[in-house]
Amino acid sequence: MARLQILELPEGSSDDRPPFVLVVDESMPQRILLGFDNPIRDYWQDIADKIGARAVIVTPETVEIPANDTSAYLCESGEAVRSRADETQGRTAEALRLAHERTDIARDMDRLAKRRNELADALGIDRLRDWDDMRNAAARLRQERDAQALAIGRVRDLHRPVEYRGTSICVECSAFAGSTTDNAPVAYNQCGTLRALNGETERSPEE
Ligand SMILES: [Zn+2]
Repeated sequence: MARLQILELPEGSSDDRPPFVLVVDESMPQRILLGFDNPIRDYWQDIADKIGARAVIVTPETVEIPANDTSAYLCESGEAVRSRADETQGRTAEALRLAHERTDIARDMDRLAKRRNELADALGIDRLRDWDDMRNAAARLRQERDAQALAIGRVRDLHRPVEYRGTSICVECSAFAGSTTDNAPVAYNQCGTLRALNGETERSPEE
């Protein structure tokens, strides 16, 4: 197999780029007979002319130019070609997988945005708020709920039941004082405060 190399030449003061020689080794010189005017054309010489090489060396010998790394030529065994093909195939598969993943991410982001809006609605806050605002709103709701539960607990504790003359009365509403009541005894199940707490306030006016 022909190997292409560049042999750089020392640059002269009139050179606008380093002069070079095109080296084609492990290859037989090729000449094509074209006609009488221009009887012999050399394929490699034509290329050298076109790429601006000062000259071309075509030789069946192997030429090692110390400045050049020709190891790529050495390793190019069938195994290397196959492994490179595998690698290319692997990269293509990976690129496809990433493309699918990007699609998945876009779809997930869309779902997430919808869920966020639903959550904002459930929390009763503006849809444009961010996740931190939502967390804060949820934390506030929990604080309020806990405070309300404690307040209700204090009210129930105040309007607790006590046995009085064989019946259960509300300590607070009856103004129970140890053994007697300062108010007319109020049956525990008729305590207006507890009925209100329990949502049983739909009383008719005459009651
Ligand atoms: Zn009461």
